[in-house]
Parts: sequence; C-alpha cells; structure tokens
Amino acid sequence: MCGIIGYTTKKNNSVEVALAGLKNLEYRGYDSSGIAFSTPDGLKMVKAKGKISNLEEKLKSMDTTSSCAIAHTRWATHGEPNETNAHPHKVGKITLVHNGIIENYATLKKELIKKGYTFASETDTEVATAYIDYCFSLEKNKLQAIVNACKAIRGSYAFDIIFEDEPNTIYATRKDSPLIVGYSNEGNFAASDISAILAYTNKYTLIQEGEYARITSSVVTFYNENLQEISKEIKTATWDAAQYQKNGYDHFMLKEIYEQPKVVQDIFERYFDDCTYSDIDFTKFDKIHIVACGSAMHAALIGKYLLQTYAKIPVTTEIASEYRYSESLITPTTLLIVVSQSGETADTLAALRLAKEQGAFVVGIVNAVGSTIAREVNKCIYTYAGPEIAVATTKGYTSQVAIFSTLALNAMKQKGLIEDENAIKDELLSIKDKLDYTLSLRDTYLDIAKDIYNHNDLFFIGRGIDSAICMEGSLKLKEISYMHSESYSAGELKHGTISLIEQGTPVIAIATNDNLFEKTVSNIKETKARGSYTIFVTTDDHKDCHFEEFADKTIILPKTSDFTQAILDVASLQLVAYETAKLRDCDIDKPRNLAKSVTVE
Ligand code: GLU
Repeated sequence: MCGIIGYTTKKNNSVEVALAGLKNLEYRGYDSSGIAFSTPDGLKMVKAKGKISNLEEKLKSMDTTSSCAIAHTRWATHGEPNETNAHPHKVGKITLVHNGIIENYATLKKELIKKGYTFASETDTEVATAYIDYCFSLEKNKLQAIVNACKAIRGSYAFDIIFEDEPNTIYATRKDSPLIVGYSNEGNFAASDISAILAYTNKYTLIQEGEYARITSSVVTFYNENLQEISKEIKTATWDAAQYQKNGYDHFMLKEIYEQPKVVQDIFERYFDDCTYSDIDFTKFDKIHIVACGSAMHAALIGKYLLQTYAKIPVTTEIASEYRYSESLITPTTLLIVVSQSGETADTLAALRLAKEQGAFVVGIVNAVGSTIAREVNKCIYTYAGPEIAVATTKGYTSQVAIFSTLALNAMKQKGLIEDENAIKDELLSIKDKLDYTLSLRDTYLDIAKDIYNHNDLFFIGRGIDSAICMEGSLKLKEISYMHSESYSAGELKHGTISLIEQGTPVIAIATNDNLFEKTVSNIKETKARGSYTIFVTTDDHKDCHFEEFADKTIILPKTSDFTQAILDVASLQLVAYETAKLRDCDIDKPRNLAKSVTVE
C-alpha cells in the first residue's frame, strides 16, 4: 500500500533512481504518484494521476538534474485520487511524502486554520506537513520539530521529509507504516521496502518506531526521541533483484503460482520436525485464536480445520479488524496466531499488540523477514516464500497453509496424537510432484475460463475444508477478473442463495473431502436441477463416480491428505482465475483499487 522512496546522492541522478525505485514499489498498489526534487532554483514538484508512466511523461520535458528526490505512489485514504491530493505535499518550509493515516487530522487542521494555515488538498497528509511546519516555526531545531509534531500526531505514518533550506538532506521517521534506510557508495535511501532499492544496494537498516534518521548522500545518523544519537545495525538483504523480475512469465502472478511447488516443499523440509517449534508448548493452551485478513484469513480457516480436527485444540478465527474491537476473552492459556504475508498489515498488527497486552503468547506466520509483525510476536515462523509482487497472493497463501500443516503436526506430536509419523512425512514430501502435476493442467483451466469469463455471477460451493478452499478460489477470481462470485458452504445454499441460480449460472463445486463427498454431490445436484453449469473439482480416487450426471466440466486432482489437499485445490483455482482474468483483459498483477500490503486500518 503506497510506496515511498527518497534518495540523496553525490551524483545528479536522484530523479532517475527514485523513479526506478517507485516502479519496483508499484506492486504495493497505488492510484497516483508524485516526486519532489532539489534544483538550484529550489524544490520542484511534479504529480500525476494514474500510472507512474504519466508522471514520467510529465518529467520528460523538464531538466531533472538533481541530487535529492522524494517520490511517492499514493493509495488514497483521504480525498480522491487526483493531482492536488497526490504527494509530495508542501506547506511552508516542509515538503514530504507519507504512507499511513493521520487519525486526528481534523482536530489538528482546525488548530492550524486558527493559526492562519490554509489547505489546498483534502488529505490528512497535508495537515501533517503543516503541523511539522508549525512546530518548526516554534522550534528551530529540525529534528526537535519533527519529534514534537510526531507527539501531537495520532495514527500511522512513514515520512520522508525535506526542509526548504537543506534540500539535499532527507529526514525520515515512522510509526506503524514501514520504512527502511538503504546505503550505497553513491548515495543513501529511505524507502518503504527493500524492493525499491535492491538494484542499487542490499545494505539496509530498519527504522524502528520512535527513531529519526537524518540522511545525506554520505552519512546517515539515527536519533531517539530525546535526540541522542543511536547506532544501528546494517543488515544485508537475502532477496536479490532477480526475484523482482518476471523471468519470462507473462505476469508476476503466473511466476509466483509456478514457484509454489518449491516454496511448499521447502517449508515441509524445513519445518516438519523443526525443533524451533518446541518453544510453542501446545499442551499448555486450551484454545487458539487465529487472526488475519483477506487470503491470510482463508489460510487461517484451513489452519483451524487442521488444528481442531487433528490436534484437538478448540480454534476460533477472526478477521483482524473485528478482533481488535471485540471482546476476545483472551486468557493466559490462549495461543494467538497472526498471519500476514507482508508482516505490516495494520489491523493484524493492532490485534497482536492488543492480545500481547492481555497476556497472550503470540505466534506470527510471516513472509517478510524483519517486518514489524515478525519483530513483535513472541515467536515468528517465516514462510520464506520470497518476494510476492502480484497484488493477489498465491504462493503467500499456500505457504501459510503449509505452515499451518506443520504447526498442526507439531501440536499432534507434542500431544502424542500422531500414529505413523513417517507416512505423514513421506506424504508431505511428495507434494512437489503432485503440485507440479496440478499446475500442468493449463488446458483444462483455460477451457473452463472460456466457459465462465463472460458471465456476471459465479458460485463456489463446498463443505468442510472444501468450503474454506471455495473462499480463496472465489476471492482470487474477484480480485483479478472483477467477476462477481460468491462462496457458499454447499449445505447452506438452499437456505437462501439458491434463488440466484438460473439457467447457465456457473457453479464451481469442490468435493475433495471424503467424509462429505456424497453430501456435496447431493447439493450439486440441487443446483444442477435449477439449471447451473457445473464445474466439478475432485480428486482422482473418485474418478469412477458418474460425474456426467451432474458435472459439465471436471478438474481431477491428485488425492493427498488433509495436510496438503488444500494446496493443490487452491493452486488449480488460482489458474482458473488467472486464465479468466486474462480473457477479460484485466490488469492481473495490479488489480484496480487493491493494495498489496494494507498498512492502513
Ligand atoms: N492518507 C494519505 C492520503 O490519503 C496517505 C495514503 C497512502 O498511504 O498512500 O494521501
């Protein structure tokens, strides 16, 4: 969600580098962009609605020789996406870019208007800019002015700030939104994440909350809020620039779908009997809460099924934005598991903080190493799925499911509930071949996409674990193809929604769960009797059933255990969604209105 890059250099190519960095942040999602850069005549500012190419177009006719720039892709929260609302914002002596939400902007705005400030945009960001300017008018020390402003500001922010009289220096700070400092021989950076700067450096430092950085082309100095200098560790990123390329695939999403066999296999090899899980004592918890948002919540539903069914621990799942405002009844014997690919999801972070305050032990399932959630949980389990650039998650989701499988198996081991450990291990480690096979059925998926792509509505139905798979399949289709679809527990359909089934309505029905196979088939027949066009997803052990009685098309996948079946099923639905979105000519990697990591609440 929103991307920030600031670059100050000994050379004069800051605009070029900042734009290249901004493009690598595109995956986070945005609706407009802008840049401010230093020139001998003062800071110049250019903004554009829509794609970064629109901004580039405007810059083409300008002299962009500059040794310091701050640039931004905005994902609008306050005020529509237009040039006035786009960042950077300039008020008085301050120019800045911001990711986050200033929650008390209305109060601060009133205060500032009384003091004579006027505002051009509808944004909360312009208010923060004005507030820093106001603090600077009272307190001539720049860092002190920023510290004072941050004390008055409530909400989330990552700021890159330039003061008028020091145009080649960037001041940076953050709270609840990500920001890192990067170091190269030619200059230094302050950016939302490492992807923005990897083409230039892999050396970086995370700015922690309550820390302030002063960045020049040759020196970076960190301060705490008492303005004492602090020393920080410089880290080396393990992800490399090649992982941010499509490597011959048409889309990042497709590349990431095909990375899944390796990602999942690596997880099973790394974690099946990993002793680091021993610091989660499952025997001590009488209940588990799993909290997440979006696809991570759908992975959580699989986790709930596995932990409850096999490890016999009661599990509740709750959407993070609800959990934090609900009476969650946490006790010292509650285990909280939070799931977030980016490790920066604002609602999930807030939920984890709340639960920790109330004494819960918190485990995080996170992809981005060193992210805020990874740092704040009691125990972080990394998925190590590598960078995920497509906004719609694929390997992020399946890697979370794989981690839940290993967690459930570890809990079973601790509770003495595993009978044949080696058989389970063999089964997990055979996932790669089965997933490769699942992903090889491209013609089947394309054929189905051709059947459904020009419909307006579609239903996914399934029971038990299959209903959680339906939710992810439906979300994937909605996200990237903009087709309306609904996911229903198959048994629930006749309690209302079946009224929407008419002649030709596509229904994707999933029946991979043996216990519920016949019941699901009965539900499919109910929709078929009302005219549905049925796509039936099942496993090869059922291939002798007479599908032709109720299915117009079938996807037949390898049969595996509950610990891996969801991974295969969802992978097939990812490709159905992908092919459908392609036929509908959608912007697959960057669907409209969506942001990759949702760092605002
Ligand atoms: N709240 C700010 C705005 O609407 C920043 C949004 C963002 O993070 O891009 O301009």
